[in-house]
Amino acid sequence: ESNHLADYLKQRIRTVPDWPIAGVNFRDVTTLFNDPEAFRVMIEAFSLDCTRLAVDVIAAIDARGFIIGGALAYQLHKPFALVRKKGKLPYRTVSEDYTLEYGSATIEINEDACAAGQRVLLVDDLIATGGTLLAAAKLFQKIGAEVAGVAAIIDLPELGGSAKLRDAKLPVHALCAFS
Ligand code: AMP
Repeated sequence: ESNHLADYLKQRIRTVPDWPIAGVNFRDVTTLFNDPEAFRVMIEAFSLDCTRLAVDVIAAIDARGFIIGGALAYQLHKPFALVRKKGKLPYRTVSEDYTLEYGSATIEINEDACAAGQRVLLVDDLIATGGTLLAAAKLFQKIGAEVAGVAAIIDLPELGGSAKLRDAKLPVHALCAFS
């Protein structure tokens, strides 16, 4: 990880205090998507990870993950797979429940999102508790894929998500971190 890259990106990420609830600093990456140079810098950084990890398929989490993952898949000429909230995918799915701070959620992929044995990179904008990405990893493991790694623009290391993902033997790469 490069400090120069991390600083460059952090300067361009908008922080919205007390959203969606009091006490949360929401890290709003739409300001990176709005900045063509920053967007390219970000996709180039993720491309290097994909090459290093010998990734076959890019998978991303609904909805901000799609923006990053779609650009990355296009750049690398790799297949793109969607991870969505329950009930959004019309074809046959596999699903995984996971717990949130308050309550629970279910995410799904199509059962043919990738072939058994393929190496998948999971992409999202931010790692907080890591619950979403861990559930997504389980989905791909259920259909016989190998999760090559997890990539995010931002890690919030104090919430323990990246540590939890590494404990599950998933290589984690975040471009920057906020405390
Ligand atoms: P988690 O499953 O706890 O790692 O939550 C990750 C998801 O929640 C990501 O898809 C983020 O978009 C969103 N999220 C959680 N906390 C924040 C935050 N402080 N700022 C922006 N997005 C967040």
